[in-house]
Amino acid sequence: MSKDLQKLIRRWTLANAIRHEGTANVNAVVGKLIAERPELKEEIEDLKESVEETVKKVNKLTLDEQRGELEGLGAPERPEREEEEGLPELPDLDKYPTVVTRFAPNPNGPLHLGHVRTALLSHEYARKHDGKFILRFEDTNPANAREEMYDLIRENLKWLGIGWDEEFLQSDRLKTYYKYAEQLLRDENAYICTCKSSEFKKLRDKSKPCPCRELDSREQLERWNGMLEGEFDEGEAVVRIKTDLKLPNPALRDWPALRISTASHPKVGKRYRVWPLYNFSVSIDDHEMKITHVIRGKEHEVNEERQRQLFNHLGWDYPTAVHHGRLSISGVILSKTKVMEGIQEGKFEDYDDVRLGTIAAIRRRGFTPQAIKQSILEIGITPVDSTLSLDTLATENRRIIDDKANRYFFVKNPIELTIQKVPEIEEAKLRLHPNHLERGDRTLPLDRKDNSLIVKIPSKDFSKLSEGKVVRLKDLLNFKLTSRDPPEAEFESFKVADVLKIQWVSAEAIKARVLKPDGTQDEGLSEPEVSKLEPGELIQFERYGFVKLEKIKPEIEAVFTHN
Ligand code: GLU
Repeated sequence: MSKDLQKLIRRWTLANAIRHEGTANVNAVVGKLIAERPELKEEIEDLKESVEETVKKVNKLTLDEQRGELEGLGAPERPEREEEEGLPELPDLDKYPTVVTRFAPNPNGPLHLGHVRTALLSHEYARKHDGKFILRFEDTNPANAREEMYDLIRENLKWLGIGWDEEFLQSDRLKTYYKYAEQLLRDENAYICTCKSSEFKKLRDKSKPCPCRELDSREQLERWNGMLEGEFDEGEAVVRIKTDLKLPNPALRDWPALRISTASHPKVGKRYRVWPLYNFSVSIDDHEMKITHVIRGKEHEVNEERQRQLFNHLGWDYPTAVHHGRLSISGVILSKTKVMEGIQEGKFEDYDDVRLGTIAAIRRRGFTPQAIKQSILEIGITPVDSTLSLDTLATENRRIIDDKANRYFFVKNPIELTIQKVPEIEEAKLRLHPNHLERGDRTLPLDRKDNSLIVKIPSKDFSKLSEGKVVRLKDLLNFKLTSRDPPEAEFESFKVADVLKIQWVSAEAIKARVLKPDGTQDEGLSEPEVSKLEPGELIQFERYGFVKLEKIKPEIEAVFTHN
């Protein structure tokens, strides 16, 4: 075995050990090596043996020794995946042995496209650096955390291909937050304020301390016990983090860190009455979970300053923060409040109402995770605010689904037309996909009476017909309108001609409804073969648009994806 290869094995083993708290795994290391040097597959048995030996040795070292050695060797090089090419490198990579990122949703509402940006970027970077990606539910407001959101968020992330290595619920971690709160109170870096909030604000705005701030740590800890034991009601006491009262932005002065809430929490019920506020729990967790890069929207910049103050009190180093701009999505409703209120008022059906920009809705409409991923990663991590239009997303999606979606006819607002003098034919055979002969044909049965053919065509197309002008029933025959009322026509020929081609159905057509993005519905008839498909399938109704089937029986129900 060459020296070079030995070194490579050592490096990957160290990197893997560091990622897993000091214990490397033989298979994981072998996998990495083969990904980097596919030719090693030929000698996999030898390779395994030396990896096993190296793993044994490396696992005996302490984490610090492993880190030190890896730093000396330089991080292993690894092939980049294609979709990562566009993302700029994270700052401070050399500061950390491995990259740890997190996505920290509040389960008070469904995920939407805006959140996905943070989640995707955090996930991509963790994967790119073979690091760790954590999912953390920030559910410390018992009054707004909702039971159904945990699974919905998990499901949405999985669907997007965002898998996590570890999961935490902040509501499981109250004891940890209490421990730090006590430490801060003991060290006089925090105090318990029982002032009316209006009184506190008056003083704070003048850079003056409130009387509670002056009490010593013994009294603070007494008050703390009082908070925990129910001596104070909601709103009567908060733990505040001491800051410089002269800070230019009053919002940063002595900010609240924990407060009382007696609402029942979906996970822990009424077990706790003192709950951390966002800036407190996020800080404790980012530190305890060893997050190296916090990727977040720049709307959190002020919060971050608060968090940095707390890190200072606790003597911790703040992770590297990377801010991205706000992402708005035109054409759909994103705001969590609007979504939740709308559902409560019955204005929206559910979290997947097609008018919403939630992941549930976008998924329901037939957008693919790949299209979402590509469109959002393309915007990247820029601090500038950006807008993603659904049209852009649709263009990306069309590229992906056009090849997959088979073609069918849907006749919106059908008008019955009788075409006379049609030669002997009983059915029509049409291709399932114009570019995929191998997928075969579909059959459209014909409704015949004597030598007439009865078809239904879209009323919009019917209105374009004029008497005597030749038109083609797509993939079947050409005809000429002879009368508008009643709608009648005459067979012209079977020859493919360069004339208006219209979609049609005839015998056994099934009622179909398509839900449009604005919440309205198109009604019409679909060709019978659609009833053989499965709900969930994406198809194209020709000259109408792509749709995702939701229900097949007794009638077709579909959701409009895009043109
Ligand atoms: N729970 C926060 C949010 O959803 C996390 C943001 C952060 O600290 O980066 O906005």
